[in-house]
Amino acid sequence: MSEATVSESSIPQQRLLVTEIPGPRSQELHARRQAVVPPGVHSVLPVYIDRAHDSIVVDVDGNHIIDVCGGIGVMTIGHTDASVVAAAREQMGKVTHTLFTMTPYEPYVQVAEYLAKYASQQETYKTLLVNSGSEAVENGVKIARKFTGRPGVAVLEHAYHGRTLLTSSMNYKAVPYAAGYGPRAGNIYKAPNSYPLHDGLTGAEAAARTIAYLEKCAGAEDLACLVFEPIQGEGGFIVPADGFLPALAEWCRANGIVFIADEVQAGIARSGKMFAFEHFGIQPDLVLTAKGIAGGLPLAGVTGRAEIMDKSQPGGLGGTFGGNPVACAAAVAVFETIERDNLLLEAQRIEATFSAGLKALQAKYPAIAEVRGHGAMLAFELTKPGTTEPDADLVASIIDFAAKQGVMLLSAGIYNQAIRLLPSLKMTDELIADILSVLDEAFAAA
Ligand SMILES: *Cc1c(COP(=O)(O)O)cnc(C)c1O
Repeated sequence: MSEATVSESSIPQQRLLVTEIPGPRSQELHARRQAVVPPGVHSVLPVYIDRAHDSIVVDVDGNHIIDVCGGIGVMTIGHTDASVVAAAREQMGKVTHTLFTMTPYEPYVQVAEYLAKYASQQETYKTLLVNSGSEAVENGVKIARKFTGRPGVAVLEHAYHGRTLLTSSMNYKAVPYAAGYGPRAGNIYKAPNSYPLHDGLTGAEAAARTIAYLEKCAGAEDLACLVFEPIQGEGGFIVPADGFLPALAEWCRANGIVFIADEVQAGIARSGKMFAFEHFGIQPDLVLTAKGIAGGLPLAGVTGRAEIMDKSQPGGLGGTFGGNPVACAAAVAVFETIERDNLLLEAQRIEATFSAGLKALQAKYPAIAEVRGHGAMLAFELTKPGTTEPDADLVASIIDFAAKQGVMLLSAGIYNQAIRLLPSLKMTDELIADILSVLDEAFAAA
């Protein structure tokens, strides 16, 4: 396995700019791309990446950029982690595809064992593997409908669940995800969420509002499931008020509604726990995973109580590439690395360093209305001075300033009101300090 560690570990973990951002080579590639790739596939930062390691991506012009997006929370254990690279390379040379529903293989079972171990301490949970977060959500809904025999799907305001037909219909934001692509899927009910900065409600009050809405507008007896993100991702890393999710869990249980945690963005060690639901003292019936699970390879899971998962008939679940052996081998390496390197503690270190720095900036710049999140899933929301009105222009100008300085940031929220931070769990304190100093300059300049 000597070739496993060639080149990728040689990228120093620091920012280094040698051209403007985007550089000339990126601009050239971007012109070529625009001729053959439609604008609907938008790139936030048209800087073309050549290679990456841990928290640094190197573009085709040789700029070393700090990656605080990780491909939207995918590179949780860092780019080109040596054990993930080695495991994927080894599996690549053994077998790359048989189709699990034709002739199975061990790595799929290993991933299902890891997910079962973390999804519940009490009960048996079983896993279906698919290719993307959207596909996990689709299958979660499908499995819940099969189990309950009911059609209705409840989701929360500010939610994001994907870009397939069903999931784009479940998103709170129609523009750009669903508008013009209709007809949308039916039987979806978008209920109020808990957004403490804006609604001022306790968890119990917010839950009472959500439940009242669903009872009136959907009818509890028609609902197959409630799909929720324990910490909303695209919605702006919204952490619900204490008691909100437990009250919804209890209501779902009392009404036979499958309680589905979409952990696609917040799950797999991102928040400082293996699953974000653990922060809230709840036990979901189904847990959906994707993004960070396989170190950048496409893999997603639906993990659920055996009673629910077992209801689907043989052949009812699956797909050609679902649980691909190379992606599964990478996922096993991700779980092993999280355990071996105590990465949950690293997420807590990152939270401590980053949130202290962000709170210091908040004291200096009143536009920062709130710093929130858990672990390596932190965001700060920007509002116009003295109001709770979102300041999307300021968000855009901070992100633009940082990009030009070699720090890759991403906005979030239905009004683009927040900047979200999705650092690798291996991001050094030195890099975090550097990011904070660039943010300080960005606010001073704005
Ligand atoms: C990204 C995301 C999805 C969709 O995953 P894809 O792999 O892009 O299909 C679903 N739910 C949440 C919470 C996400 O962040």
